This record gives sequence, C-alpha cells and structure tokens, in this order.
Amino acid sequence: MPPPTSDLFAVQEINHAGRGVVASDSIHPDTVVYQSTPPAAHVVFRQYRQEVCADCFFYDRGQPCHEQWRAKQGAVGLEAWTKLHDFIQSKSKSITNNHSLPSLTPKPDEDEVRRTWEAAGQTAMSLRQSRASTAESETILRRTAANSAWPQVVDPDILSYLLSGCLYHNKEVASYMADVAELEMDTMPYRSTPDLQAHSNSYIQLTACAPGELLSSVTESVCQTLISAASHNSFGIHAGSTDGDEYLGYGLYPGASYFNHSCRPNIRKQRVGAGWEFRASKGITPGEQCCITYLGGDEEVCTVTERRSRLKVHWGFTCACKQCVEEAG
Ligand SMILES: [Zn+2]
Ligand SMILES: [Zn+2]
Repeated sequence: MPPPTSDLFAVQEINHAGRGVVASDSIHPDTVVYQSTPPAAHVVFRQYRQEVCADCFFYDRGQPCHEQWRAKQGAVGLEAWTKLHDFIQSKSKSITNNHSLPSLTPKPDEDEVRRTWEAAGQTAMSLRQSRASTAESETILRRTAANSAWPQVVDPDILSYLLSGCLYHNKEVASYMADVAELEMDTMPYRSTPDLQAHSNSYIQLTACAPGELLSSVTESVCQTLISAASHNSFGIHAGSTDGDEYLGYGLYPGASYFNHSCRPNIRKQRVGAGWEFRASKGITPGEQCCITYLGGDEEVCTVTERRSRLKVHWGFTCACKQCVEEAG
C-alpha cells in the first residue's frame, strides 16, 4: 500500500515539510477523513500489560479480545511471544525500563552508533550460525555468545516493540516494504548511549530467543528501520481516546504518519481500538493541508517558544505553521 489516498485528500510533497495530506475537495466539519489500520509495530509498556488488551488496547478490562489476539498472531507469533516472555522472566534482575529513564549522557554520535551496531551484528551472526548448527561445540559457543549479550540490560518494552515489528515483517512483507520502509527515517534516534545499547542488545536478544521460522525477519536492517521510523512516525497509545490520558505505550502507524503538525490543527485524531480515526475539526477547503497537533492539546496553552522547542526536541523540526509565524512575527 503506497501512501493512503481518498476522494477527500492526496498525499503530496509540501515545501520544507516532507510529505503531507492535502484536501482535494471541500471537507465539512466532523467528516471522517481517514481511518488507520492497526499498527505495524507497537508496544504496550510492561507495567500495563495485565490491564490493557493486547488486541484493541482497551484499558482496565484485562484481555477481552484474547482469542482474536491469539488468532492474529498465528503459531509463529504465539511461539515468539512465549519465548520472549520466558526470556524476560529468566532475566528479571537485568530489567530496565528505558523509556522512563532520563537521558544523563549526550546523544551518541554517528560513529558510536555505527560501531555499536557493527558489534551487535557480529554477535548476532555468530548466534545465527550456531543456531543453524547441531554440533555440541557450536551449542556451547552459542551459549557463550548469548551470555555475553544477556548480562547486559534487558528492556522488555524495546524487545516487545521490535518483536511486534519483526512479526509484521514476517507476515506482511509486502506491506512492510511499501509502508514501513518508505517512512521518513530518523538516522539518529538514540537519546543516549544506554538507549543505543538497549536497542542493539534487544536485537541480539531477539536473535537468540526468536523461533527459527522468524529469524529471516529478525535482522539488523528490520530492527534499525523499526527504530528509526518510530521517532517521527509513532503515536502514543493513551488510556482514553485522547493524548491527555495515561500513556500506555506507542505504535507505528505508517498511513497515519502522513498528517503533518500544525499548532492550529484542522484535524482531530482519536484512537478507536488499535487504530486511529481522523476527523475534520473545522471546514477545510480544497488545497488546504490537513494537519493534526503533535502536542496533544498543549498547543492551546503553550507560547510559540515553548511549542517550537518541544517540537524541535521530540520531532526534529522548527514549526512554521500559520499560528507560529503569526506569533513569532
Ligand atoms: Zn480488546
Ligand atoms: Zn506551530
């Protein structure tokens, strides 16, 4: 599936803003402009796992759609989740929750990122070779290699996010190539050196514990793509339907990521089950860009300086929406 299209809009190149969604017809207030599919990769943070439905992300009701969820995972998916769960349980002393840690060290530079992934690639390759071999010496080598990776940090949330994306790649490779691989990538997505290590370790750990049938999708390229795509193309999964509610996790929604930001948005996004619905919050004229807010409602109370600084830090751009241009003078 290329970028989404409809009678109401087209995805077009926007000056200095990559691609965006532009109205091709008059859109009346409250019209549903776009409905996304479920995420290509996502995580519900470990601390919420018991309370949030894995299938529709409903909070506080346990797992009402457990059977649907199992059916969608298929045999390989179920085996992969079981193995990951067992691995995380066995390493419970090494668990961290990377997303909640403040970054105390600076962002790693390109060279450090490259070296870290090269080392991870080598460990993963020897794991892969030894997994393919049945010789006893190889089994010992595999255990040694695995243990050299495992005493380090185990981040269940990064592991779950990457596994969900690898499963998507395994099941829907054509969609993965057309949607996920085509997204705008953040080449420097790591907040700190520990963050970089947590991600590259997760790749090694998945290589060690994923079912054999899944290994063709647990690759450096797939994992790096999932990580680089997440920075600028993922949406927070919140307890309610809006961004003000409790933050439970995040998901990568390829089709939905074409909506650019404006501090005076004309589209309201609302989570419906595992997907998102995008509705016009005011009348939109043909040729006008359809924008959501990335600030979750805070754009109404923040100054232009605060808005621009948050968008720069989290999304990597300086907002040049009408509201910002007018206020900044
Ligand atoms: Zn559900
Ligand atoms: Zn703005």
